[in-house]
Amino acid sequence: MRILVVGGGGREHTLVWKLASSPRVDKLFAAPGNAGIAELAECVEIKVDDLTRLADFAEKNSVDLTVVGPELPLTLGIVDEFKRRDLKILGPTKSAAEIEGSKVFAKEFMKKHHIPTASFKIFNNPEEASDFVRSSDLPLVIKADGLAAGKGAVIVENTQSALSTIRTMMVEKIFGQAGSRVVVEDFLEGEEITILAFTDGETIFPMLSSQDHKKIFEGDRGPNTGGMGAYAPTTIVDDRMMGRIYDEILEPTVAGLQKEGRTFKGILYAGLMITDRGPKVMEFNCRFGDPETQVILPLLKSDLAEIILSIVEGELSLQEVEWRDHFAVCVVVASAGYPGKYEKNKEVFGLNKVKQMEDVLTFHAGTKKQGGRIFTNGGRVLGVTATDKSMGKAIQKAYSAVNKIEFEGIQYRKDIGYRAIRVKKRLW
Ligand code: AMP
Repeated sequence: MRILVVGGGGREHTLVWKLASSPRVDKLFAAPGNAGIAELAECVEIKVDDLTRLADFAEKNSVDLTVVGPELPLTLGIVDEFKRRDLKILGPTKSAAEIEGSKVFAKEFMKKHHIPTASFKIFNNPEEASDFVRSSDLPLVIKADGLAAGKGAVIVENTQSALSTIRTMMVEKIFGQAGSRVVVEDFLEGEEITILAFTDGETIFPMLSSQDHKKIFEGDRGPNTGGMGAYAPTTIVDDRMMGRIYDEILEPTVAGLQKEGRTFKGILYAGLMITDRGPKVMEFNCRFGDPETQVILPLLKSDLAEIILSIVEGELSLQEVEWRDHFAVCVVVASAGYPGKYEKNKEVFGLNKVKQMEDVLTFHAGTKKQGGRIFTNGGRVLGVTATDKSMGKAIQKAYSAVNKIEFEGIQYRKDIGYRAIRVKKRLW
């Protein structure tokens, strides 16, 4: 099989790495890829939102299957375009991808289908939104309706910051049209976890639970990032909780989308808060998460190419999905200044030393290769994943690998996985 992976971050490097291990895969392409991906796949300079060129490339190069990493091409309709041309592709159609593309759609959908989520109100008008927050108890969460590169949800603790958030989203339009409507919802307390699921629109196979670390600093302080690390599986989601998540969230979501003529095929990402009153949805995404994928796929025993094909063919029920009985921890290594303005073009040292370590994988996010040397080329530079039967040892291995990597201004969190300790000390 010839496979094209769309995207060029740590998630896509992980996808390419896992697909490369399949005996069914003969050739891998990535658009645009990165320096790490280039070791396993032929990288082609096509932007992820250039749907026509991506489909042209797949046609001309006899690509048998395309796997899409990021949300942008999915919400723009890449799956519809490929299907029109009879090309096989993993992911939801544009109408099913609305579950991520529009928070307003997602919230109304959840309400209609009785899927547990925070209570909310929708506003088209900044004055009405302002009046509402003035008369509400805080904290609240204000969310831009459309895609905002992970920055569209703001937790507001006081009226002043609520009013200024409404102004910047709805009047100053810092996210453009994405902020012309907002969702204002209750603040949920609990443990935040991610559940990814394979689904062909009927059958659903949840993957292992994982936990991302979104804040830049230790102890979950500072501004939000794309994710500074993750671990899997979590101790919070035991079999009973997974049963509830399946029955209360995954099954009604997939069935509801099908009922509405928006059959969802692909990877459903549920960002959940495990509250005292059970699991509640904070967001749905229509694709693999990053960095969650960097801990989930190293624990997948089964052949990913086969699973993906069975989703595309609508035969997921015939597939077996097996997991390794290990923990995985991923520490993200970032550039100085990230998540604000960051520096680029710093030479990265130590990657060869890490390559020799057992049970450690380095996934590239923002890197480029020049004259045989690797340089930083993004905010998040690398994800270093280690696996072990013990969570504590997986953390140790990940950090001993990270300590071998050097570049000017390197920053990473020193406490990835600490929440697992807080939840269940005995696993250590
Ligand atoms: P979202 O883009 O909706 O996932 O929100 C981004 C982040 O904001 C989440 O990962 C949570 O940390 C936080 N968040 C979103 N909604 C809520 C909520 N209702 N209560 C508490 N935190 C939330």
